[in-house]
Amino acid sequence: MKSDKIVVCGGGGFIGGHLIADLKRQGHTDLRSVDIKPLSEWYQVFPGVENLVLDLQRREACEQALKDARVVYNLAADMGGMGFIENNRALCMLSVLINTHLLMAARPAGVQRYFYASSACVYNADKQRDPNVTALKEADAYPAMPEDGYGWEKLFSERMCRHFREDFGVLTRSARYHNVYGPEGTWEGGREKAPAAICRKVIQAKVSGQHQIEIWGDGQQTRSFMYIDDCLHGTQAILASDILEPINLGSSELVSINQLVDIVEGIAGIKLKRSYNLKAPKGVNGRNSDNTLIKKLLGWEPNVRLRDGLEKTYRWIYDEMQHKKA
Ligand code: NAD
Repeated sequence: MKSDKIVVCGGGGFIGGHLIADLKRQGHTDLRSVDIKPLSEWYQVFPGVENLVLDLQRREACEQALKDARVVYNLAADMGGMGFIENNRALCMLSVLINTHLLMAARPAGVQRYFYASSACVYNADKQRDPNVTALKEADAYPAMPEDGYGWEKLFSERMCRHFREDFGVLTRSARYHNVYGPEGTWEGGREKAPAAICRKVIQAKVSGQHQIEIWGDGQQTRSFMYIDDCLHGTQAILASDILEPINLGSSELVSINQLVDIVEGIAGIKLKRSYNLKAPKGVNGRNSDNTLIKKLLGWEPNVRLRDGLEKTYRWIYDEMQHKKA
């Protein structure tokens, strides 16, 4: 119902901010957005939305956040790109408190649907050693050998959602996101992910006239990247569905990091001299999303081509950098 109270946890972040915008566009009238960051640091803030600054690792904060809620999206996590998650494993694991306390609060609050944002980082590392990957299907998460820290927390929290559903009747749904990108997200400061970091570096090179770029790893590692609009449609479809087990939500358009740089160079209209930092965090060698299940069950497929999504992201980061400089 358009008048049901919907709570977006992590609403000051990248995906949460876009989700609030999308729910507003659809005519939802009772929205609450919750984040630990001061309001001035939220990527998007909307009038007519109840914005709460709370630390959702605390149980009382979760109770306050979910008061009268019918639908909950848990997008709150202490996270970032490889540079952050490889160096902050304990902080990543502490996000388990957020999902645990939200689930505990969801039950007495009478929440009817609960979404948990999991990640492709739950997948077994052994299946991701070769850049010429076989796309990951849902069953590949077990036997478990996820990304240390961040991936373990996601896998455990997925499991917690399952048991709260089975034992306590909280209707949980979970998606495994594969690299989401777009405007209004982190592009500097150490938590940014590859698409935003590469856009920033290419813009810096263009503006400074120093036509060179440092790439983390050998550039041959492969990934797929999903534009934010596709993520929002898929997320809401999964929440409304009868799909009980965590399901992939990602693009299956596989590119190497070198190819990603090629595309961004094309958008910028320059060619850069590349150097490779083999000591920098680079994650697994190859990862792609097998979308067989979500296509079959929901008819969902990403719509936005990587080149088009990157163009929008590049323009937004360019404007942000100019704005900051001014
Ligand atoms: P983000 O960092 O932009 O947003 C997460 C938000 O959670 C941040 O604004 C942060 O301040 C908030 N937060 C952290 N700790 C909190 C706490 N204790 N209390 C309240 N708020 C807290 O990240 P995002 O890209 O929007 O990711 C959203 C979710 O999707 C996360 O769970 C993330 O792990 C998951 N995910 C994202 C991607 C991706 O590529 N962006 C990929 C896989 C999974």
